[in-house]
Amino acid sequence: MSYTYKSGVHIDWCPGCGDFGILSAIQMALSEMKVEPHRVAVFSGIGCSSKTPHYINAYGIHTIHGRPLPYAIGAKLANPNLVVLVVSGDGDMLSIGAGHFVSAGRRNVDLTCVVFDNGVYGLTKGQASPTLRRGIKTKALPKPNINDAVNPIALAIISGYTFVARGYAFDIKHLKDLLKQAIQHKGTSLVDVLQPCPSYNDIMTKEWYAGEDRADPATGKSIPRIYKLEDSGFDPVVHNPDEKEVAQKMCNAIAKSLEWGDRIPIGVFYQNPHVPTYEERLTSRIPNYRQYPPALQKIADESMHPIVDLKKLMERFKLE
Ligand code: SF4
Repeated sequence: MSYTYKSGVHIDWCPGCGDFGILSAIQMALSEMKVEPHRVAVFSGIGCSSKTPHYINAYGIHTIHGRPLPYAIGAKLANPNLVVLVVSGDGDMLSIGAGHFVSAGRRNVDLTCVVFDNGVYGLTKGQASPTLRRGIKTKALPKPNINDAVNPIALAIISGYTFVARGYAFDIKHLKDLLKQAIQHKGTSLVDVLQPCPSYNDIMTKEWYAGEDRADPATGKSIPRIYKLEDSGFDPVVHNPDEKEVAQKMCNAIAKSLEWGDRIPIGVFYQNPHVPTYEERLTSRIPNYRQYPPALQKIADESMHPIVDLKKLMERFKLE
């Protein structure tokens, strides 16, 4: 089962871009999970990252700026049997798409949102994106960034996302494992991926994440900035659905998400498996929703003549 297009697809990213690592991790995760390509739908907005659906051998929908989540939610609710992924940049998802990002957390639709987080708008030549910290001056900016940054992990947690993780584009195996966990989780998942943009972000580079600028004087070896939460004994899972534990796990995760600079955690920050998905909420109102979701309802006969009687529906809207 391959998610890689074998020929005829030109990948339109700069050499050394972190997007390649994320693409590989998505393809590997889906292959290892043995999900058939016709059951996978990948939605994107606008930006370098949003070209990703073109490079995955599954259904791909390249939507408009900031809007991949509403498209993806619509598709998932119409056909809950699909595995739905949203791939989007930090600019697309956390600026123009921020309203949709927050609203998605209230619903807990079963989908996975992957944010390619490089701190810049790469496609339009490197303007500061919502995740670039104040005071940082990348090579495309005439002056240091004047705005404070959005924290995607904290925003997702307080918005209601029930699986929140951070990966690194050049630790492909770890990212692949995170994506598998996110896809398997029942509910809305965020995987925020730190993704070097070698063309426009000359501050958060692959070398910076690897700590090559701060060698250990004793050994001469680099001291990596990135470390894995699971190696530090951090427990992100809400084990009992009581409010006290939920609040404690949220606070722990948000505190961890504030670590930056010398030490940058990756891994799962928060997981609450006890919140009903939107599909479950719908089933409690429409009992046969799972058997007959909109995409599986018959709307035409074998000759493709409509079999749905719209007259009755229109009668309801008729003005006297
Ligand atoms: Fe990647 Fe940056 Fe080039 Fe876009 S501009 S493809 S994010 S390196």
